[in-house]
Amino acid sequence: MDVFVLEVKYSYQGADEVLYPVLLRQEEELLLVDGGYAGFLPLLQEAAARHGLSLANLTGILITHHDIDHIGALHELKAAFPAAKVYASALEAPYVSGQRDSLRLQQAEALHASLPEEQKAWAVRFQEMLKAVRPVAVDVILTGNEMPAPLSGIELIPTPGHMPGHVSLYLPQSKTLIAADAVVVEQGELELANPAFTLDLEQALASVRKLQQLEVDRLICYHGGLVEKAIPEKLKRLVEKYAPAQQTKASADDQETDTYSSPACYAHRKEFREGF
Ligand SMILES: [Zn+2]
Repeated sequence: MDVFVLEVKYSYQGADEVLYPVLLRQEEELLLVDGGYAGFLPLLQEAAARHGLSLANLTGILITHHDIDHIGALHELKAAFPAAKVYASALEAPYVSGQRDSLRLQQAEALHASLPEEQKAWAVRFQEMLKAVRPVAVDVILTGNEMPAPLSGIELIPTPGHMPGHVSLYLPQSKTLIAADAVVVEQGELELANPAFTLDLEQALASVRKLQQLEVDRLICYHGGLVEKAIPEKLKRLVEKYAPAQQTKASADDQETDTYSSPACYAHRKEFREGF
């Protein structure tokens, strides 16, 4: 199976940003893993063309989880390439197809009142972006441990935390892990994606531990791109970094309080994290 890491550059609020969707090719199959924000179709086409590929040959689009930077362009992709099947996990599929309201939107609405005044205008714009995501029917709901044939060389690794139905992809033949947002790259180190807004931080850490069990030579993060060096060490440092938080959770359990059950607590964790 051929792996192509797309480099999709864009600017957001004046800053240059990059996302790294992946194209997987096996014989006649061409699968796009995540698709960027709404309006990204031309950027995706350019990024694919730099690898000598055309999205016109897409046979599938896999959505790792329902966040706007992964699903925003799905509607336009499906409209442009209707033969491409949409894949999503059983837990994420109802959000992709619009049967359920976005969890990120629910979280944003729940947090809104507690935000500092100066962040509220931005937060409203974020909510509007989430509301503008157009639902798309899911053609294949992923329930097993691997992609259905003819893509059965791709293992599906449930990595909940950032979102309940988040999945990562593992290609055992080439020891390649497409982590999506299970881990991101920040300043050369691995980090959790937006820990302040991770829906379940403990689950996210358990997912990182699960990834530690895999033999990985190439790690592809949607935020940060390709990592090829010292992957086990970087995963270990990430887990250890959050170990004090886990101890805090254990002592909180002793007191029969659940300080981590509310999304608002995650927001406070950011300051905690920056204290390391
Ligand atoms: Zn993301």
